[in-house]
Amino acid sequence: SGNGAREARDPSSPLKRFAQAKDAIRRAFQHLSERLAESQSFLQAAQLGSDGGGVSSLVQRTQEIQKVLSRDRMKVAFFGRTSNGKSSVINALLHGRVLPVGIGHTTNCFCSVVGGEGSEGYLLIGDSPEKRSVKSLQQLAHSLSSQHLDPSELVRIFWPKTKCPLLAEDVEFVDSPGVDMNANIDDWITKHCLDADVFVLVSNAESTLMNAEKNFFHRVSERISKPNVFILNNRWDASDSSDLAEGGEEGEGGEGIDSAGPRLMEQVMQQHLERDIKFLTGELSVTDEQTASHRVFFVSAKEVLHYRLRKHQRSADPGQGLAPGYRARLQNFEQFERRFKECLSSSAIHTKFEQHHKQGQTVVGELSQLLANQDSLLRQRREEVRIELGACQSRAQQLAQNKPSLVASGDHLVSMAMGQVGSFQSKALRD
Ligand code: GDP
Repeated sequence: SGNGAREARDPSSPLKRFAQAKDAIRRAFQHLSERLAESQSFLQAAQLGSDGGGVSSLVQRTQEIQKVLSRDRMKVAFFGRTSNGKSSVINALLHGRVLPVGIGHTTNCFCSVVGGEGSEGYLLIGDSPEKRSVKSLQQLAHSLSSQHLDPSELVRIFWPKTKCPLLAEDVEFVDSPGVDMNANIDDWITKHCLDADVFVLVSNAESTLMNAEKNFFHRVSERISKPNVFILNNRWDASDSSDLAEGGEEGEGGEGIDSAGPRLMEQVMQQHLERDIKFLTGELSVTDEQTASHRVFFVSAKEVLHYRLRKHQRSADPGQGLAPGYRARLQNFEQFERRFKECLSSSAIHTKFEQHHKQGQTVVGELSQLLANQDSLLRQRREEVRIELGACQSRAQQLAQNKPSLVASGDHLVSMAMGQVGSFQSKALRD
């Protein structure tokens, strides 16, 4: 039911491309492992070494790739200062209250949300295999806050795929502690960012980008070449509903609206936009100006979640009670979703599967080299056997040809011996 389920059934969803690519590459590796098994048993039968003539190591490597492949997900990581709304953005994307919101300390560590089987969520903390059940958000908040976790520690939340169809599409969302916290940023990057496909900087629309936020992304782009960065100017409702936009354009009575509000908002938005684009292009140099303009959005995660939850409840007016101008913010969020999903799936296909593709090609190359070597070995053996067989044959022929003369000389010897025996006998009788 609801948007989430519709989204999951949408065959044009950009995320589907990842699933399709994963399926194609999974089948290719399946095919490869079948050919490897055939080669192995053929070489074993030909008695070219008990390890199947070196195929065993290729089988092992292929199994490793298949394991990694089955775990491959599209990973999107959210950064920004505490309380800018990172958890709220993730919840809005998931169409549900999954992460606790507004309690800074609960997200004092990294929280990853992935799809889980079954009808109930559970947590894994750090490397511990102990599954902690999470039935409610309060319980999750309590579980997180009762732990004394290192800020770079990872808490993995397995949330039922049935509750969040987006999670059934192999997406992993990672919420981070605020970049304003005095943390070991390099440690964060090593542990949680190197395999992220998309980074979302959740900024506060009420202020400009802070140095802590900028520094973090500078460090990321030193380690990852051209990371995909999106900037969400969140809490745009708070700016929009302030006295700047009093009586905004969505109000009941359209007349008499003070047009100075929206105009001023437009200017503020333009300033943010220019600064954000400058940050992505001039400062970080991660993208060109045109792409950057499609990477900056003005949203209200809080409103989007409110709207979506009410829609799921089949409310006749899901936007009821939201600040004026909410529709534009909602649309901007939807645009962000579309663009970030496109970027996410193409980046993940590229970064995750390209490696597997290269490794697969190496295995195929090594297998054909190995078979070529074994083939020449087999040819050599065949030649040796052929020569040996030839020698045997000619010897056998020789023997066969010599048989009559051998028989004759045998007969002659026998008659000679008999004659000898006869003469001995008559001599014995005479004496
Ligand atoms: P985080 O610390 O970055 O994860 O921020 P949270 O998602 O926990 O949000 C911090 C507080 O800001 C909470 O009280 C949210 O309800 C509120 N908040 C989040 N997004 C918005 C928004 O778009 N508009 C408004 N007005 N409040 C928001």
